[in-house]
Amino acid sequence: MKGIEDYIITIPDFPEEGVMFRDVTSVLQDEDGFRLAVDLMQKKLEGLEFDVIAGAESRGFFFAAPLAYNLHKPFVPVRKKGKLPRETVSIRYELEYDVAELEIHRDAIKPGQKVVLIDDLIATGGTNEAMIKLVESLGGEVIKAVFLMELAGLHGRERLKGYDVDAVITYP
Ligand code: IMP
Repeated sequence: MKGIEDYIITIPDFPEEGVMFRDVTSVLQDEDGFRLAVDLMQKKLEGLEFDVIAGAESRGFFFAAPLAYNLHKPFVPVRKKGKLPRETVSIRYELEYDVAELEIHRDAIKPGQKVVLIDDLIATGGTNEAMIKLVESLGGEVIKAVFLMELAGLHGRERLKGYDVDAVITYP
């Protein structure tokens, strides 16, 4: 039986030299790979009591939506600036060479709700840290963040110290 690592194609020097890009589309485009990825991420949530699943645009949506569907929870998209039509809260955060902005609908999370964050991959942890701040600004409590892949060498876990961070597969 194939493991999840067998479905992930690594592309050297994409999008720039020196980067080993872990491609999630190679998982999605295989029906067994996609199912295995969702099932393994879902295992990380076994026994956990929570109210909402929030996913990061755009690769986080691929997994957050089927997990929310399977577990019968609301799915909240955290989107890039300017995409959400109703009242939002937003956060600007630093990327390696750029600044990004993420938004969430103000009514998407109610104070006291327990929230699980989903993304395809954690690298520096900057994206997830921004999501945590958005959820907390609405009074939500982030009780776990689950990723398909973790690039351990970029120390995202340390950036998110104090939070429960879990990944299906960890690369050095
Ligand atoms: P971070 O904010 O540095 O943790 O980067 C994580 C974000 O960048 C995630 O939303 C990923 O989708 C994206 N990302 C960074 N590196 C990769 C990669 O090698 N493959 C796929 N996505 C990546």
